[in-house]
Amino acid sequence: MESEIRVRIADDLLMFLPAARREPLRRVPWDGTSTLGHVVESLGVPLPEVGRLTVRGEPAGASVRPAAGDEVRVDAVPRPQPVPLEPGQEAPRFLLDVHLGTLARRMRLLGLDTAYHNDMDDPALVVQANAERRVLLTQDRGLLRRRALWFGAYVRGSRPDDQLRDLLDRFAPVLSPWTRCTACNGVLLPVDKQEIERDLEAGTRRSYDVYGRCADCGQVYWRGAHGDHLEKIVEEATRRVEAARTGTVRAEPAVSE
Ligand SMILES: [Zn+2]
Repeated sequence: MESEIRVRIADDLLMFLPAARREPLRRVPWDGTSTLGHVVESLGVPLPEVGRLTVRGEPAGASVRPAAGDEVRVDAVPRPQPVPLEPGQEAPRFLLDVHLGTLARRMRLLGLDTAYHNDMDDPALVVQANAERRVLLTQDRGLLRRRALWFGAYVRGSRPDDQLRDLLDRFAPVLSPWTRCTACNGVLLPVDKQEIERDLEAGTRRSYDVYGRCADCGQVYWRGAHGDHLEKIVEEATRRVEAARTGTVRAEPAVSE
């Protein structure tokens, strides 16, 4: 009798395997008690990254115990990946771990509801993500292994540009650019230019259009010459989401580590 199972891992998940054993077909000793979820995690793949699981070609849940000799297939989450939304909610809400501050500001620029604190420990992150139904974004695999977490995602890429692309490809969220405070995530309210004009420097007054003031922290936002960099981010993100929706996103290779 065979005393192992064969686990076939999707290409998109190979990055989670130790570099020396990054092969799509792994043989794992069968112990009769481990569930599929446990087997997958023991190989290094966080469960929130796993989409469909099959055993001998049949769909199976993570709590199923494979039999000796079984062949298991582990797919990555589909892209775009659906996130449960509440009635009236247009896009998923997010919570980012302490290392993703730049990504957080870019997501807010795009109007995504993005909570971020630079001083929050793992248990507190899980509590907030669950309480506010926010997708927890992180590059900490340990955090994604926490059973209590309702919805997590590993962010691929080390540069904020790559991380943002990964996020947009993965969730293809509805964007509302220029509607959120990049500093605190507050909602921007329309503001009369005259009202705040005296606080602006002369150069700013001449060449910028004020577009909003943060309802929470009072920060005033305007668009203009120096906003070109941000305009580019918004344009590229909008195109990226469109491509993710229409399934043309794979034209560019995914980021790998
Ligand atoms: Zn603010």
